[in-house]
Amino acid sequence: MRALTVVEPGKMSLLQSEKPVIRNPNQVLVRVKAAGICGSDIHILHGTNPYAAYPRIMGHEASGEVVAAGEAVTDLQPGEGVVFEPITYCGTCYACRTGHHNVCRELKVLGCVVDGVFCDYVAVDRSQIHPFDSGKMSYIQAALCEPYTIGAQANWRGNVLKGDVVLIHGAGPIGLIVADIAKSRGAAVILSEPDEGRLEMAREFGVDYAVNPLETDLDLLIDDLTGHEGVNVVFDAAGVPALMEHAVKVLSPAGRFVPLTFTNKPVPVDFKLVNAKELTILGTRHQYRKFPEIASSLWKRLDRVDKLITHVFAAEEYEKAFKVLEDKKVRTGKVILTFN
Ligand SMILES: [Zn+2]
Ligand SMILES: [Zn+2]
Repeated sequence: MRALTVVEPGKMSLLQSEKPVIRNPNQVLVRVKAAGICGSDIHILHGTNPYAAYPRIMGHEASGEVVAAGEAVTDLQPGEGVVFEPITYCGTCYACRTGHHNVCRELKVLGCVVDGVFCDYVAVDRSQIHPFDSGKMSYIQAALCEPYTIGAQANWRGNVLKGDVVLIHGAGPIGLIVADIAKSRGAAVILSEPDEGRLEMAREFGVDYAVNPLETDLDLLIDDLTGHEGVNVVFDAAGVPALMEHAVKVLSPAGRFVPLTFTNKPVPVDFKLVNAKELTILGTRHQYRKFPEIASSLWKRLDRVDKLITHVFAAEEYEKAFKVLEDKKVRTGKVILTFN
């Protein structure tokens, strides 16, 4: 079978690899149909993901079709559409015992620590796939389930409530997905993004206030909208360290800050304000138990899912796909590879 492999940092190739087989009664063999390229795949390609080992088959956002199942799997039939939950965990460490399996000390992420889904076939444990109705959405659309679970996790961490005013920095795919889920939880969403193309996408996505912070006084807008109370939740999906300092200022009492991006640069925090307003800072990583709901309901959001998918390439065109994604001049949402 074909497998898009990072042979060593900076060098990827569509290699021929052995087709996997079912090795225990709980496993399912899946024919991969479509897979999204994530920002983290770019890091793995360039050798800037500290968890990645090489050579590595990339990819963790995929949909596919059940080909065969082990004898203990009684609830899936060949031909059924599934999406991959790309993490495994030990089930016994402190994180797992307290319901935070996504930060398990033995966490293994497909396409990073172990081989991923940018290939024709994958054999995984039944617990790592979730069925979806392929009559209601295509395999390409279903590949968006994984990033939607990330948005669902972030909203759950931030405890976004009906009537909240939420500020999201960054209108990349994750910022837009976080906005979409926050809206469906009943919040009003301000999306701040300096890139006009992405801002346009946010408007098409239906956020309540899509603003360019270089042109609009964001703090003034927040004051006006919230009667000087401040926003209730801030998500940083832009990766600008200074936004942490800003969040502490513009959050309401009892507000929550969810930093979605990584930085290893320390950020100063005014703890006087954190305590005065009893703010909460919530890390978020992967997801836990978010797949069943997303896989069974994403078809209700297809108008937005279709807006997010800007490019689809056949697996053989992987070089073009990565080039488009890294070209700052091209407006990209999700870039999908198909394995047909
Ligand atoms: Zn991803
Ligand atoms: Zn564990």
